[in-house]
Amino acid sequence: MHFDNVEVEAASTPDERARRGLAARARHLAVAGRDPLTGLLSRVTLLKKLERLVRREEQLALLCVDLRDFRVLNESLGHATADALLVAVAQRLRRIFPEAPALARIGGDAFAVACPGIYSDAEAREQAERLVSELSRPYSVAGRVVRVGWWIGAALCPAHGDRSEALLRGAEAALQRARAERCDAPALFAPAMRVELRQRAALDCDLRRSLDEDHFHLAYQPIHALGDGAFVGVECLLRWRHPERGEVPAGDFIPLAEETGLIVPLGARVLGRACRQAAQWQTAGLPPFRIAVNLSASQFAQSDLVQTVEEALAESGLPARMLELEITERVLVADVEGALEVIRRLRALGVRMALDDFGTGYSSLAYLQRFPFDRLKIDRSFVAGLGGEGPGPSIVRTIVQLAHSLQMDVVGEGIETPAQLHQLRRAGCDFGQGWLFARPCPAARIAQLARLRKPLAEAV
Ligand code: C2E
Ligand code: MG
Ligand code: MG
Repeated sequence: MHFDNVEVEAASTPDERARRGLAARARHLAVAGRDPLTGLLSRVTLLKKLERLVRREEQLALLCVDLRDFRVLNESLGHATADALLVAVAQRLRRIFPEAPALARIGGDAFAVACPGIYSDAEAREQAERLVSELSRPYSVAGRVVRVGWWIGAALCPAHGDRSEALLRGAEAALQRARAERCDAPALFAPAMRVELRQRAALDCDLRRSLDEDHFHLAYQPIHALGDGAFVGVECLLRWRHPERGEVPAGDFIPLAEETGLIVPLGARVLGRACRQAAQWQTAGLPPFRIAVNLSASQFAQSDLVQTVEEALAESGLPARMLELEITERVLVADVEGALEVIRRLRALGVRMALDDFGTGYSSLAYLQRFPFDRLKIDRSFVAGLGGEGPGPSIVRTIVQLAHSLQMDVVGEGIETPAQLHQLRRAGCDFGQGWLFARPCPAARIAQLARLRKPLAEAV
C-alpha cells in the first residue's frame, strides 16, 4: 500500500499481506523517530533536530498548530476517517513547507513546523497566517469533504528560547492562549503565558475533583416574550462553586471542560438535573414553560446522545416538548450530514432544537436552511450593537426575517438596555433574555416568576 493514500478503506483492507506491510512500516518509522501514522517527525525527534538548529544559532520560528474540535471529529467521523484526515494534513504540511528542516506531529491532533530565516514577530505571523489558511482548505477523506479549523501559536529563536525544549514549550503556551481565547489570529509567545499554562493545568485538576465531589449547580435565566414582556421559559446555565475560589463563570471553565472531554459526563448530569427540575416545577402546579439546556459540541458527537436525552426525559417524567436543546454552529460545520441526522432524531422525540449564539461562528445564512431548527438565538454581540448608530438594526432585521421565513422563532440574547429591547422589537424579534429582564437565578425565583406570569412590559 502506498503510504500517502488517505482512503480509509485501503488502511482497513483485511488483506493479511497489506496489514503485515503496514505494521512493518509503522515499526520502521517508530525506530526512525517518526510518527507511524503520518510519517512526520515524532516529538522527541523534533526536539533533537531543533536542538541542532538552535546550536547553529539559526534564527527561526517554531509554529505549532492544533486542530479545532478534533475530539468531536473523531467521534462523528469515526477513528479510521479521523486518522485518514491526519494523514492528509501531514501531506499538506509537506506541500506547504517542502524545505522545512523539521515537520512533526507533536500530539494527537497537533503539528509543529520549524521555519528558518525568521527574524521578526511580523515575519512569524505572516508564516503562521499562510499556514493556517492553507491547512483550513477542505479535505477530501474517505469519500467525504471535511472542513477543519486551527489554533496556532509561535515562538521565535533566540528571542523566546534558545534551547529546543524552551522553544517548543513557548510555542505550545502561545497555542494554548489562542485556544483558550478562541482567537483566530496566530498567538506569539510572551513570558506571562507560562504562568497561564500552569494555572490551566491546576484548573483542570480542580474541575475533575469537583465532578467527583459535585460542586456544580444550575442557574436559570428567564426568557420573555418581547411583545408583552411575559415570562415564557428559562435557559439553564451551569455554575461551578469552586471550593476555594468561589463561583467560577461558565466562560472560564466550560471551554476547558470541552477540550478535555469532561463536558460529556458533566453535560449529562446537567441534562438529568434540568429535566428533573422542570418536572418538579410542573408537579408543583406552575403554568407550563419550557426549559432550554445547552449541549456542547462533544456531547453532540456522542453516539448515545439521543439515548441520553430519552433517558433524562423518561427518568424525570418531563414531556419532550417541554425541553429545548441549544447547540452552536460549531457543532454543525464539521460533519453536516451527521449533525442533520442527530437533529432529526432529537426532534422526532418531540424535543425542540435551538441554534445558539447565531452570528459568532462560521454562520452562513444560506446554510441555515439545511437545518430544521425551531429557534434561532441571536448572539449577544449583535444585540450589543443595537441602540446606537451603525448597521446593527438592519443586520438583526435581516436575521429575524430569514429565521421567520424558515419557520423559526427568534430570541435576542443579552438585552441590557431599553434601547436594545426597542430595536429588537422593531426588528420583529419574538423573545429575549438579558439582564434588563433578569439575571440567571435559582430555581425558587423562577417558580415565583412563573406563578406571577406578570407581563413585564411596563417594567422595561
Ligand atoms: P449561552 O448559552 O449563550 O448563555 C447565555 C450567556 O449570556 C450566559 O452566560 C448568561 O449569563 C449571559 N447573559 C445573559 N444575559 C446577559 C446580559 O444581559 N448581559 C451579559 N453580558 N451576559 C448575559 P454564562 O452563564 O456565563 O454562560 C456562558 C456560556 O457557557 C453559555 O452561553 C453556554 O454556551 C455555556 N454554558 C453554560 N451552561 C452550560 C451547560 O450546562 N452546558 C454547556 N455545554 N454549555 C454551557
Ligand atoms: Mg445557550
Ligand atoms: Mg447564547
